[in-house]
This record gives sequence, structure tokens and C-alpha cells, in this order.
Amino acid sequence: MSKWNLIVDVARCENCHNCVIAERDEHTGNDFPGYAAPAAPVGDTTIRIERRVQGAAPMVDTAYLPVMCMHCDDAPCRRAAPDAIVKRDDGIVLIDPVKAKGRREIVETCPYGAIVWNDEAEVPHTWIFDAHLLDQGWKEPRCVTVCPTAALAAVKLDDAAMAFKAAAEGLRTLSPELGTKPRVWYRGLDRWLTCFIGGSVSAKVCGVVDCIAGAEVTLLREGARLATTTTDVFGDFRFSRLAPDSGAYRVEITHALGTASANCSLGESVYLGELRLNRAPATATT
Ligand code: SF4
Ligand code: SF4
Repeated sequence: MSKWNLIVDVARCENCHNCVIAERDEHTGNDFPGYAAPAAPVGDTTIRIERRVQGAAPMVDTAYLPVMCMHCDDAPCRRAAPDAIVKRDDGIVLIDPVKAKGRREIVETCPYGAIVWNDEAEVPHTWIFDAHLLDQGWKEPRCVTVCPTAALAAVKLDDAAMAFKAAAEGLRTLSPELGTKPRVWYRGLDRWLTCFIGGSVSAKVCGVVDCIAGAEVTLLREGARLATTTTDVFGDFRFSRLAPDSGAYRVEITHALGTASANCSLGESVYLGELRLNRAPATATT
């Protein structure tokens, strides 16, 4: 049987909040019996956009991550409140607004923080995949229709086809180690989960400091060469997809104008700043 899945493209999310607003517009003051009680006009939203800022000026990378109910196949919320939370045959998880009334403890059962509490109606809410609209024949939920960058896509596939698509396209779920089997998939999640080491290479040429394109830059760890790249027209280089908190690294730069090197310890992403080429090797430590 085919089931709903949402695909989120991290690189495409521009933090415009159209999806958040559409979701709030759909539910605020509107009662959908059997699906959701009216949402509160203020307070937490059932779709949220998280932000991650890495590096330092001028090499800064900002990524946005839309987070909502993952419609988990093995949902902790459902295990905690099986009488009030249902899993439909099409994969959608719904919190019964009547049976869940007054049960604030349900909010805490979601490891993704995807359940919000409506103080006014005294009910927990989630993003319901706009099941009430899909049941009327809509082809996709409102958040998908309003996203201007096509960062969101809803697909209805059987589990084997979805697993194949995920493997073929490198789609991943959030916190798979929790074993919740989410139905929300992320493309480009590396940008959210990994770090970079970058820098800018310069040299003094005829008394003037200039950025140096085409310098060879090598990343080493414990003396072993991990990767090599060359600087771009601005003299910048960047090694991406490094694990956070992965310890000590060394960068070595060579060019006809000289050499430079730098050591760093990687917690979060590191911008090494300007690395000036010297005829004799020089070392900087951060
Ligand atoms: S509408 Fe699309 S681009 Fe805008 S915040 Fe939502 S997911 Fe991101
Ligand atoms: S994301 Fe949270 S609220 Fe949604 S199904 Fe999973 S555990 Fe339940």
C-alpha cells in the first residue's frame, strides 16, 4: 500500500516561513473534527524552521532545517498514548483532539519536539500532513503548495519504493538512531550535521597583498592526507563534510609564491582566516 512521505531539501530552504504561516492559517480558529482542534493564534507552531550558522566572517554558512511531525512508523508518542494517537494506513499519525484533551504530558513524548501545546483548547497539536485536505482530494499539503523554492515535496509510495528512492537520492531521516522510522526525509542533511574547515590564502606580490587563486591545499589528520583542493579566484578554500568534535587537523598550502600551514581543533566549523604565503614555511595555530 502506498503511504505519504515528505521530502525536505535542506539546500533549498530560505527561511521564508511560508510553510509555517500556511499551516497556522489552515488551523487557527478552524475545527476539523477527527483530525485536529482549532489551533491557537499565538504560541509554538507545528512546523518550525531551525537555523544553523557555521564559520566566521567572511566564510559563513547558514542552513535552515524545517522540522515537523515525522509521522513515525514506530512513534514514541503513540507508544505512550495508544488510546489517543492513531497511525493511519496511509502512514499519517493523528492525535485525536477529543481523547487527547487535557493530556499535556503527550507533548513530552515526541523526541523531535514536534508536538505543541494549545493552552486555549488544552490539546496537543502536530502537523497532521493536512490529512483533512488529502482526504478531500488534495494532491499535497498546504506547506508544499506555498513553498517558493520547492524545498518541500510530498510523495505517496509504498515502503519498498520509498526505501529505493531514499537510497538512490541520498535521503536521510533525522536521528535514525532513535529507531522511530520517520516518514519525513531530508536531502542534503550533511549540511546540517557536518562541519567545514576553510581559509583564505594571500601573498605579497610586488609589495601588494593579493588573494591567491590556484594554491594547492591539503588537509591532514594525524599526519595522514585526507583531502586536497585548490583555492578559488578569491583565494578561498573549504573542506566540507567533516564530523563535529573530530579533533586536530592540519592544513598545508603550497604555491609557486610560497607555502603556509595552520593547525586547528575541530569542534564546530572553523574559518582559519587569512593565511599568508611565505617563502619559508610558517605555521599558525588556532
Ligand atoms: S516555505 Fe519552503 S523555503 Fe520557506 S521556510 Fe518553508 S520550507 Fe523553507
Ligand atoms: S514526530 Fe513526534 S509526534 Fe510525530 S509521530 Fe513521531 S513521535 Fe509522534
